[in-house]
Amino acid sequence: MSETSRFRSLEGGHGALKGAQTAWDMLSEEQMQKHITTGCEELDAILGGGIHCKEVTEVGGVPGIGKTQLGIQLAVNVQIPVECGGLGGKAIYIDTEGSFMVERAHQIAEGCISDLLDNTAHRLKDFPACPEILQPNSFLANIFYFRICSYTEQIATINYLEKFLEEQKDVKIIVVDSITFHFRQDFDDLALRTRVLGGMSLKLMRFAKKYSLAVVLLNQVTTKFVEGSFHLTLALGDTWSHACTNRIILYWNGNDRHAYIDKSPSLRSATAPFLITGKGIRN
Ligand code: ADP
Repeated sequence: MSETSRFRSLEGGHGALKGAQTAWDMLSEEQMQKHITTGCEELDAILGGGIHCKEVTEVGGVPGIGKTQLGIQLAVNVQIPVECGGLGGKAIYIDTEGSFMVERAHQIAEGCISDLLDNTAHRLKDFPACPEILQPNSFLANIFYFRICSYTEQIATINYLEKFLEEQKDVKIIVVDSITFHFRQDFDDLALRTRVLGGMSLKLMRFAKKYSLAVVLLNQVTTKFVEGSFHLTLALGDTWSHACTNRIILYWNGNDRHAYIDKSPSLRSATAPFLITGKGIRN
């Protein structure tokens, strides 16, 4: 290679670095990181404020532990007005199992509104749009619901989100309930399944960064035989586990529900109890 062409190639390399960010920029970005409250203060505390925007969080647990309840709660809480300390955003709910109950979403929205009126009344007095916004029906109108009946539909919907998110810039959370259901039912080629799901997760991670939104993937658990005994582990195995930034496991401790941070690049492993009440997820 001649000196000139070597220089040109270096110049090209330098050009490619134009998009680089310094660690200092990253730190300030992280300090401005937005969160969506779960409704449970103790859980928010171990999460550093709630579910992180710009990241993919996987939530796993046995049936009945409260994954869907948490998903619906987040689709409601993302709408808490900025005046009350929330994001004032909208939600996309991708339902692969038919678990989303609109009556329950209405009840959770009522619970959220009644808490806002109790706890942030002082902030609401200068907020003229408050009476229209703080209605359960307005909360339901801001949840875009997609019912998915096959894995092909799931792939097509995730691809379609690219266009949808361009039109709906207020969306601040995408909940997929659950990511695994159809892939576990109908997909025989395991290597291909891993590749397709990995691609889907990368796409969701890109949406999270581009639109500063939170992606929450609900996942089922399965049993794994390790060293002579059965252990609960998240569905789809270890390859999939790299596809998410954070992982929270919901589990029973006697009759009490707990959440455990199983994986996070920035949070320490910690546990918090939570309740499911008529109003939704609470302390
Ligand atoms: P998963 O998605 O993990 O299978 P769900 O999110 O569907 O579980 O949680 C179902 C559980 O949520 C129910 O077993 C019940 O304990 C609780 N739950 C649902 N609705 C209410 C309610 N209105 N009041 C109190 N608890 C509720």
